[in-house]
Amino acid sequence: MFFKVENSTIAFGGLVANKDVNVEVEKGQIVGLIGPNGAGKSTLFKSISGFNKIDSGHIWFDGREITNLEPNHVCKAGIACTFQKAQSFADMTLEESVLVGAYCRRKSKKEALAYAREMIGFVGLAEKQTVKISKLNMYERKKAELAAALATQPQMLLLDELFAGLVPTEVGYILEYVKKVNRELGITLLIVEHVLKVIMSLCDKIYVLEYGQIIASGSPAEVTSDPKVIKAYLGD
Ligand code: ADP
Ligand code: MG
Repeated sequence: MFFKVENSTIAFGGLVANKDVNVEVEKGQIVGLIGPNGAGKSTLFKSISGFNKIDSGHIWFDGREITNLEPNHVCKAGIACTFQKAQSFADMTLEESVLVGAYCRRKSKKEALAYAREMIGFVGLAEKQTVKISKLNMYERKKAELAAALATQPQMLLLDELFAGLVPTEVGYILEYVKKVNRELGITLLIVEHVLKVIMSLCDKIYVLEYGQIIASGSPAEVTSDPKVIKAYLGD
């Protein structure tokens, strides 16, 4: 298996945020993770990317165990992420913020800069290179985050509510970028998303989390017809 989370469990004080979570992703797939607020979706992403240390379980990627590695080592292993709570550096220019990602794999400034610019171009923000992140609108910031994650040259990308806060036309545009990331750059995607239209139109497979546990998984058609899912998520 290209990527596998095996019985991942993590508690914060008395709150078990993820309990025995199992997720499998094949190379090239787009896999979705849905569930109500507080279900533990972001927690799982942070556990994968090294910002959380899990209490038990294992995480495997591309033939090696990456459980509880530091974030920079997870990045070097080939996994990048965008965060739900934007951690972008508001004071930096777009180019500087994407450069941070590019340094994950490139040693010289010249090389890193060239790659950062390429990714800024890929998301269609070339004319905003020297603009501060704080001056970008929501749609541009989302693309900036995507560019910074891509600049680390990941094999797999985790997107945490990348579409949140966008108007429908912008959702449509970002959707096309995300498809391009998968099809043209060949990057495997694991995405947390509330916009169901996005999940349904993109994903090969969907996992549903509720109270920290996976309650269903399968194709979009399978999960949306599962009574447990309708009750937990789609019904509200
Ligand atoms: P989701 O992304 O599905 O909305 P989260 O993973 O952000 O949910 O949160 C799951 C639960 O874990 C919530 O109750 C949240 O308050 C709690 N939680 C997440 N991270 C922490 C943390 N670092 N410290 C304490 N509690 C946390
Ligand atoms: Mg979240």
